[in-house]
Amino acid sequence: MSTSTRTIDVTSPFDGRTLGEVPAHDAEHVHREIGIAHEALRAGPPPEHERAAVLERAVELLGERAEQFAQSISGEAGKPITIARGEVERAQDTLRYAAIEARTLVGRVVPMSGTSAGAATVGVTLRRPVGVVAAITPFNFPLNLVCHKLAPAIAAGCPVVHKPASATPLTSVLLHELLRDAGQPEEQLRLVTGGGGEVGDALVVDPRIRHVSFTGSSDVGWQLPKRAHRARVSLELGNSTPLVVFADADLDAAVRAAAQFGYAYAGQSCIAVQRLLVERSIYDEVVERMTTAVGDVRFGDPADEEVSCGPVIDEKSRDAVLAKVRAATSAGARLLAGGDHDGNVIEPILLADVDPALDVSCSELFGPAVVMTPFEDEAEAIELANGTPYGLQGGVFTADLARALRMAGCMEFGGVTINVPPTFRSDQMPYGGTKESGNTKEGPAWAVRELTEERLVLLANG
Ligand code: NAP
Repeated sequence: MSTSTRTIDVTSPFDGRTLGEVPAHDAEHVHREIGIAHEALRAGPPPEHERAAVLERAVELLGERAEQFAQSISGEAGKPITIARGEVERAQDTLRYAAIEARTLVGRVVPMSGTSAGAATVGVTLRRPVGVVAAITPFNFPLNLVCHKLAPAIAAGCPVVHKPASATPLTSVLLHELLRDAGQPEEQLRLVTGGGGEVGDALVVDPRIRHVSFTGSSDVGWQLPKRAHRARVSLELGNSTPLVVFADADLDAAVRAAAQFGYAYAGQSCIAVQRLLVERSIYDEVVERMTTAVGDVRFGDPADEEVSCGPVIDEKSRDAVLAKVRAATSAGARLLAGGDHDGNVIEPILLADVDPALDVSCSELFGPAVVMTPFEDEAEAIELANGTPYGLQGGVFTADLARALRMAGCMEFGGVTINVPPTFRSDQMPYGGTKESGNTKEGPAWAVRELTEERLVLLANG
C-alpha cells in the first residue's frame, strides 16, 4: 500500500491528454518495499515448477488482455498501435522462454574423481537465486523490456522491486496486476514509481539489493555501479546503430531495412537504424532510393493503424533531435527529407554526406532520422561502424559470405546481423552490448544465469 500523497501525471506524448497517474514514491517508501521483498527470502524460493506455472499462466492472461496492453503502450509511449501489438506478442515470447528456463534450470556435475583428493566425494552445483533484485526500466518498451526483467527474476526465484520509467508506468501497473493474477506471490513482486534520481537511486544504494538490472541511457547507466553498495549491476544501454551496405548487396532489402527501421516508432528503439554507411560506388543510387522510401513513411497519430512513425516521447527529446540535425546541416550535411514538426511528431528526416564525427552520427539520436555517409572499402567500413562509443548491435548487407564473416569478426558490437536489419531482435536471443552500450546479455536463458549463483554441494562417495 502506498503512503505517498504526491503523484505523477502520465500524459500522451502525441496530444498531451492525461492518461492516468501513479504515486511519486519517496526513498522511505522504497526502503519499506525492499524490506518486504527481503523478508520474502526467509521462506525460500518457490519450487521451479511453480515459478514456471506462474509464467505460463501469465502468457495465457496476456493473450486474453492483449488489446488492453497494446492500447496502454500506444497511449503512454506514443507507439504506433500496430507496433504496440507486436510488443505484446513479443512479451508473450519472453514470458514463455522464462518459463522454459524455470523448468530446466540446472547446475553441473563436478568431476570430483578426476583427482585422488576428490575421489572420495561426489560434487554437484545447484543454481540458487541471488537474492533481491532491483529492476529499472526505460520508457520505450514499457511491456516487453519490463518482462525481460521480471520474468527471469521469477524464473530464477528472486524477489524483485521494479521501478518503471516515469513517462510510461501505466503498462507496468497492468503487468504487475497480471503477474499477481497469474499466481506470483505479492511479496515477491513489488512496484515502486517516482523519479529516477530519488526512487531509482534509493533502490541502487540499498545494501539488501543483490543485483541491479538496468535498461536505459548510457549517461544514467554508468553512474549506477558507483552508487551500488554490493550489488552486481547489469547494464543494457544505448547505441548509434550502423547499417553497412556493400555494392554487391540486395539494395531493395537494404533500403527497405533502413527505411522501415530508421523511422519505426520515431527511431526510439535502442537499435533503430541511425547510420547508413554505403559503399561509394552505389552511394548516389542509395541516396536516391532512400529519398523515395522516406517519402512513403506514414507519420502522425500513433492510434492510426497506417502510421509507423509517431511522436517522440517529449518536447525535450524533440528539441534535442532537431538541434543535432541543425548542427549537421550547418556543418555541410544535405537535408534530403523532413525536419518539420507538429507537436512532438517530427517529419522523418534523411541526411546525406554526414561527417561521422558529428553528434547526429556518433551520439545516440533516438529520433526519426537516418544519416548517410559513404565509405571506400571494407577497412573504412569497419572504421566507421566502430567509430562511436557504442556497441550494441550493427548490421551488414553484402552477398559475399567471406566478407560478411570478416565484418562480423571486426565489428565491436554485442550482435552483428548479416542481411538482417540490425534492429532485429527476438526474445530468446542473447542481447546486449559492449563498450558504452553495456556489460551484460539479456534473453531469459542469459538473464536467469545472471540472477542465480552456483552453490557447490559435496557428498561423501560411499
Ligand atoms: P533513462 O533516462 O536512462 O531512464 C531509464 C530508467 O532509469 C528510468 O526508469 C529512469 O527513471 C531511471 N533513472 C533515471 N535516473 C536515475 C538514477 N539516477 N538512478 C537510478 N535510476 C534512474 O532512459 P530512457 O530515456 O527511459 O530510455 C531510453 C534509453 O534506453 C536509450 O538510451 C536507449 O538506447 C536505452 N535502451 C536500451 C535498451 C537495451 O536493451 N540496450 C533497450 C531500450 C532502451 P525516470 O523515468 O523517473 O527518470
